[in-house]
Amino acid sequence: KITMNNIVKRYDKEVTVLDDIDLTINEGEFFVMVGPSGSGKSTLLRMIAGLEDITDGVMKIDDNVINHLPPKKRNLSMVFQSYALYPHMTVRDNILFGLKARKVNKEEQQKRLHETTEMIGLSDYLDRKPRQLSGGQRQRVALARAIVSQAPICLMDEPLSNLDAKLRANMRIEIRRLQRQFGLTMVYVTHDQVEAMTMGDRIMVLDSGKIQQVGRPIDLYNEPANLFVASFIGSPK
Ligand code: ATP
Ligand code: MG
Repeated sequence: KITMNNIVKRYDKEVTVLDDIDLTINEGEFFVMVGPSGSGKSTLLRMIAGLEDITDGVMKIDDNVINHLPPKKRNLSMVFQSYALYPHMTVRDNILFGLKARKVNKEEQQKRLHETTEMIGLSDYLDRKPRQLSGGQRQRVALARAIVSQAPICLMDEPLSNLDAKLRANMRIEIRRLQRQFGLTMVYVTHDQVEAMTMGDRIMVLDSGKIQQVGRPIDLYNEPANLFVASFIGSPK
């Protein structure tokens, strides 16, 4: 469970990027964040990951305050908007990096590697370097790296934005399946309404750093809190 109380993010004391975010993301929930470009989605995700200072407020995982906990101690995995692969490492080593660091045994590493790369369609690319891959293939490496880690919390920032329509549709199903199978707490950022509506247990709509509404897809659709939510979700009202 991730809890945020009055979370604020400011840059240079002037620009408020996130304003008074109050939110609980439940254990095992698929939580989707949507909102226009610049609304603060990535910033909030990076704050959960510990990659961005929290200006004000309290952030917890379960009952522990994590405001100053280093990223490595948070036991979560993350797929960044810009894949963040190690350029000098092969696909195999990029995917296994976290497991090696945690000294997961070799057999288990190979098992997870093969299961995951088979599923994501990367088996033929294990010996390549990131620069020898297309954008979509790199994105799949980043996804595979998050999936093999089997961390209880997974943060994904537009993980499917670079894939073609067919692969995107398959990956939506695969990500949802894995999330259920492992009971992952997923925080998933997307621009795509269809993705949000079909994947999310709950959706948060963010605009200019403020929460507009949080609720189940059906509730946002039937009872949007305001015009912004209605138009963003594509509700008839
Ligand atoms: P997108 O959908 O385009 O990825 P986003 O919702 O993820 O957008 P963020 O990346 O969280 O948006 O950015 C939110 C706001 O914070 C933007 O206005 C951005 O310009 C600002 N911002 C981000 N990083 C910094 C920084 N280091 N210094 C100042 N402002 C920043
Ligand atoms: Mg972003």
